[in-house]
Amino acid sequence: AKLRSNSVDYTESQIIHEQRDDVHGNIDNKSQWDPTSWHTKPIVQDVIYSSMEDVEKALEKLETLPPLVSPHEINDLQEKLRDAALGKAFVLQGGDCAELFDYCSQEHIESKMKILLQMSLVLIWGTKLPLVRIGRIAGQFAKPRSKLTEEVDGKVMPSFRGDNINGFDMSERTPDPSRLVSAYFHSAATLNFIRTSLSSGFADLHRPFDWSLSHVQSSEVKARYRAVVDAITEGLSFMKTIGADKSSTLESIDFYTSHEGLMLEFEQCLTRKLRDPRDGESKWYNTSAHFLWIGDRTRQSNCAHVEYFRGIMNPIGVKVGPSMTGDELVATLDILDPDCIAGKVTLITRYGAGNISKALPPHIAAVKRTKHKVVWMSDPCHGNTKASTSGLKTRDFEDIMNELALALQIHKDNDSQLNGVHLELTGDAVTECIGGSARLTDEDLQIRYDTVCDPRLSESQSLDVAFLIADWFKK
Ligand code: PEP
Ligand code: MN
Repeated sequence: AKLRSNSVDYTESQIIHEQRDDVHGNIDNKSQWDPTSWHTKPIVQDVIYSSMEDVEKALEKLETLPPLVSPHEINDLQEKLRDAALGKAFVLQGGDCAELFDYCSQEHIESKMKILLQMSLVLIWGTKLPLVRIGRIAGQFAKPRSKLTEEVDGKVMPSFRGDNINGFDMSERTPDPSRLVSAYFHSAATLNFIRTSLSSGFADLHRPFDWSLSHVQSSEVKARYRAVVDAITEGLSFMKTIGADKSSTLESIDFYTSHEGLMLEFEQCLTRKLRDPRDGESKWYNTSAHFLWIGDRTRQSNCAHVEYFRGIMNPIGVKVGPSMTGDELVATLDILDPDCIAGKVTLITRYGAGNISKALPPHIAAVKRTKHKVVWMSDPCHGNTKASTSGLKTRDFEDIMNELALALQIHKDNDSQLNGVHLELTGDAVTECIGGSARLTDEDLQIRYDTVCDPRLSESQSLDVAFLIADWFKK
């Protein structure tokens, strides 16, 4: 039942991307949708398995496994993103570029939650807005690649496409469908640990000192963070004095999960018709994560990913790169958000520091001409990836800060507002992006270059980013 033949090869996918005349109304949102209707559309970044029998087996198993998240939680996030779209909340979305099955450990999960919570404190203090936290976690496995093969010691090998497809190790580069089932269980274990940590007080705002800055060397950043914590602690003790500290939101916080919805076979199996507690009607929810996004390489409005995404209840994201035209953006929004629900779509812009001034204003204008109310989010990482002198993939912290600062300013200048930030980061002291308060150089990259995909901000660089946003709101 799952056999399909909509795969297009990579050269062809480039052409689809270029067919701008062809993007209007090719998917009309009145036509029948079901979790498999994407099979009839061309798909890019497809994975070809050698045994369809094994694929079937994996998908049949996935279809029987229970939902990882509930309609209630998904609706909750939708409401919070509506607030963000209306300028009444700010969103922090972050995590690894490629999550590995090996990152499913107490140490890795705690360290990522810790940096997101530390950044939250700084952002709440700076923006004075409720903060919506979304991790690129508990399922961020599949990776789109600009090159599907790479040359290793003169041999052409398939690229690493994420732990749910193949392995990073050269001996595991053949796509293995049983990894899809493994992905489910690693997501479930990660999510379980997040839930149990939060419900046991991991994020208790009364004890923010427990989230020590273990890897931050810069005494300036440490002092600034300390000052924020002091200000918040003072506020909390004042609230205690007046008896207003009984709110449970101080002891625990909401934390949502997200990943790129690239492997549609997987997403289709986790898409379930469930009761919407708001009106009692059965609706299609993707129960693998609260929030999913479409990558910049798979956002063609006449193709499979947009077709799949238009049918689910979850709030969704679209990565928007410099090649997106205003018309294409509007056509995509019309397909994904036909009822113009505020916060349903988050536009995650990732133009590059050198492109944003030209690319963002027309996109803001194009959306303003419609009834869509989107969450405008800046991903200052993906448009600024480059090769270091040694050939390692890196990003210059200056470029990241510049794109983010420009995003804040350009929105303001165009009578709009930046509602969130999307970052590739880790809580560890990695040396993957150059610059920042630790002043990492090209030569420093080899000290601790752990990523298997894109370079991530370190704990210290992540805090720098949080302070940039906080300072902008405070000025
Ligand atoms: C990513 O977020 O890791 C990614 C591949 O982004 P983009 O689709 O924007 O290139
Ligand atoms: Mn990435």
